[in-house]
Amino acid sequence: MGIPGGRAEASHAIVIGASIAGLLAARVLSDHFAKVTLIERDRLSASWEPRKGVPQGCHIHALLARGEQVLSRLFPGLTADLLAGGAVPVDLANDIRWYQFGSFKVRFPSSLVGLCQSRPFLEGHIRHRVLSLKNVGCRSEAEVLGVLATSDGRRVTGVRVRDRHSAGETCLYGSLVVDATGRGSASPKWLQRLAYPRPRESVIAAKVGYASRTYRRRIEDLNGAKLLVVLPTPPHETRMGAVVPIEGDRWMISLGGVAGDHPPKDEPGFLAFARSLPIADVADVLRRAEPLSAITVHKFPWSVRRHYEDMERFPEGYLIVGDALCSFNPVYGQGMTVSALEAEALDCCLREKGPGLRPYSRSDLGPRFFRKVSSVVDLPWRLAASADVRYPNVDGPRTWSTAIFNWYLTKLHGVTAHDPAVHRQFIKVINLMDPPVSLLLPPLSLRVLQGSLVHRESQHRRP
Ligand SMILES: Cc1cc2nc3c(=O)[nH]c(=O)nc-3n(C[C@H](O)[C@H](O)[C@H](O)COP(=O)(O)OP(=O)(O)OC[C@H]3O[C@@H](n4cnc5c(N)ncnc54)[C@H](O)[C@@H]3O)c2cc1C
Repeated sequence: MGIPGGRAEASHAIVIGASIAGLLAARVLSDHFAKVTLIERDRLSASWEPRKGVPQGCHIHALLARGEQVLSRLFPGLTADLLAGGAVPVDLANDIRWYQFGSFKVRFPSSLVGLCQSRPFLEGHIRHRVLSLKNVGCRSEAEVLGVLATSDGRRVTGVRVRDRHSAGETCLYGSLVVDATGRGSASPKWLQRLAYPRPRESVIAAKVGYASRTYRRRIEDLNGAKLLVVLPTPPHETRMGAVVPIEGDRWMISLGGVAGDHPPKDEPGFLAFARSLPIADVADVLRRAEPLSAITVHKFPWSVRRHYEDMERFPEGYLIVGDALCSFNPVYGQGMTVSALEAEALDCCLREKGPGLRPYSRSDLGPRFFRKVSSVVDLPWRLAASADVRYPNVDGPRTWSTAIFNWYLTKLHGVTAHDPAVHRQFIKVINLMDPPVSLLLPPLSLRVLQGSLVHRESQHRRP
């Protein structure tokens, strides 16, 4: 809402939402602002339990290798802390029994390592690091109701906050406000109240559903592998399952379905869904393992990307990050890593020097930031979109280049069953370490085309 004569507190940044994107933004802003305040609707406890504002925390959360690299730079020693707390290191080629497109991926020592842990555990460690910074504070159980702005609406000057206990409302002023409230972000509505148009949106309705439960982990459950993932062959198969190690010697077992084919919450239905996967391995683990939690379900109807970079007018002192900017299909595990890359982009924008090596004025931070993050978001968005539209009843952009890329990827998937070099590069691309175009370049593309001829023989060979 606009308030006449709204004032901004100099060098105070306000971040709305203390989940992954908000915490990472706060970490970066602490290097550039005298004071940073996070405002979070939930109560934040010291224990690593899922919380109401992040319901997806009950489901598997892969941290891509690129995300882990960025987090290690932002928080030196974080990886060691996570490992000490029980996170499980996984060689992304050697330790995973990975069934996709009708065959198991080849296993080999790759030195590409990922960390497996629950989402609340990872968020809890990041939160601890961020809140230990001297100039960062957090108001929890406080809900932001809207933004404050100068009377002409050109500059955001703060937020209106309701304390969830007293229900009292206060105003908090800052020179930068960052919306990190997730996919339900009210920014389009708040901007409309300041007489700005709504941003253009790209939407892909993949209609994903998850059902997850934790189990006691025994080393022998996966015959020496540390992680099992079973993915469908589109367009006829829609169901997937994953058995992922997390802290506390537990498995997080998630079943999922796309195009509206969702796993149920009841135990017999959950087991039947696991049995209906292309191979029986997930059901085999479920049959033996001891459950430690209830089954939780989550529906994710569509991915949405809000194109703030296209807006001709945008208020000064306001940014949008994380799922509030772009909420990805969770199946590809990109959301947290993209939030980390956005935090890096924000840092870069705040450090960038203009002509004559003079620092840029903060007044044009928004356009520079949205341009930069648009290119950060673009590749993962297109990677996910091209996979989603393999399902005919999923609405999304279908182009010739997508069709050719998908034809090629089908060949490539076959070759990843027996060619370590091809599988290694595929892992790097889906972990956002290399761009998708790297899969198309020779000599890799020649290996893919030659290798696809021998793929049939290796199909269904179990490692
Ligand atoms: C089922 C599922 C599985 C996923 N799996 C993966 C995965 O494997 N890997 C991966 O990288 N990503 C995954 N994601 C995505 C990932 O959860 C998000 O990308 C990541 O959490 C970053 O989101 P965020 O911080 O922007 O928003 P969120 O995590 O949604 O957090 C928003 C925060 O804002 C707070 N908030 C909201 N409104 C207000 C308000 N008005 N005032 C104050 N506070 C407010 C909320 O309480 C919450 O804390 C998955 C998502 C889903 C749904």
